[in-house]
Amino acid sequence: MNKSIAVIRGDGIGPEIVGQAMGVLDAVAAKYGHSFSYKEAPMGGNAIDAFGVPLPEESLKTCMESDSVLLGAVGGPKWDAQPSANRPERGLLKLRGAMGLYTNVRPARMFADLSAACPLRADIAAKGIDFVVVRELIGGVYFGSHATETVDGEQKATDIMAYTEHEIRRVAHVAFQMAQKRRGRVTSVDKANVLDTSRLWRRVVGEVASEYPDVELLHMYVDNAAMQIVRDPSQFDVIVTENLFGDILSDEASQITGSIGMIPSSSMGEGKRGLYEPIHGSAPDIAGQDKANPIGTILAAAMMLRYSFDMAAEADAVEAAVDAVLKEGYRCGDILQSGGTLVGCCEMGRLIRAHI
Ligand code: NAD
Repeated sequence: MNKSIAVIRGDGIGPEIVGQAMGVLDAVAAKYGHSFSYKEAPMGGNAIDAFGVPLPEESLKTCMESDSVLLGAVGGPKWDAQPSANRPERGLLKLRGAMGLYTNVRPARMFADLSAACPLRADIAAKGIDFVVVRELIGGVYFGSHATETVDGEQKATDIMAYTEHEIRRVAHVAFQMAQKRRGRVTSVDKANVLDTSRLWRRVVGEVASEYPDVELLHMYVDNAAMQIVRDPSQFDVIVTENLFGDILSDEASQITGSIGMIPSSSMGEGKRGLYEPIHGSAPDIAGQDKANPIGTILAAAMMLRYSFDMAAEADAVEAAVDAVLKEGYRCGDILQSGGTLVGCCEMGRLIRAHI
């Protein structure tokens, strides 16, 4: 198969980790007889420096015309003083909106060989962590109107959170269909005791549930969900929630598995084209030092193979290669435990490629 991939290297450690993921994709192409062509799409702080905007039109066009998009991470202290409409993260929000990527999927899975890195009590970790957070990505407060004004001599800021039925329904379908392929349980997270958007969310998710009688549905308030994720994560299979709650809960979920550097994510809308990235940011504190863990980005590339290109065997091969390298004891600094062998970003990429 021939596939075109738009590549957004981004800022900070972005270029380092994306380079390793591309190397792994090339190894997959060589082994399975595929051809992947890459086209660079500058976005983020580097695009502000070069073009004055975080997402140049040409980059957006490249992404829209590709079969899929691979992203490192954007942002960094250099651009913190930018006006909010021109910050690096705005480029990412604009890209998600333009590509219609309404679903973000983040697996929270604890690798058996990394259980010592799990910050939870051993008896809780022993029950295992294997769930998926399905987050609505282009609605809610992140996409509502924002305003700061002066009222009665002091500053007042307002962010509008809004949801329509169809925005809730389409992401709910994704969650139920995912649960059908997993352990058949959806936990819908909201704040229906306080928010109108959450009451609408709860009603619509309940209606969608009636189309999936083989899937069990539970509703949970977001404050309780935040607590349950650390108290007993084994109770979760698929969590579905709105944009803001999903942003926070998915970071919490990734942290309990060990390292933020290990977790991939996919963002999809209608059709097969998706945006694949690690869940972490640009880690400016370790950028350019060959210290970044590339595994989250490499596993994001595996998700691209599985979900956008229907290459399940190839995705399995990448995930198995990651498991094998971890089993051999190789670790980047963020997941290093006593007895492990410390390797840098490039060497971790090389080891994984060697197992493909
Ligand atoms: P971060 O995820 O970049 O870093 C948090 C901590 O985790 C740091 O100590 C970092 O060194 C470490 N870390 C992250 N990824 C790692 C990896 N692959 N290997 C080893 N260690 C890793 O979060 P932050 O410091 O809050 O944000 C830095 C910048 O990234 C900010 O400008 C933020 O806006 C941006 N950001 C971008 C995205 C994105 O592009 N999707 C997401 C989150 C944050």
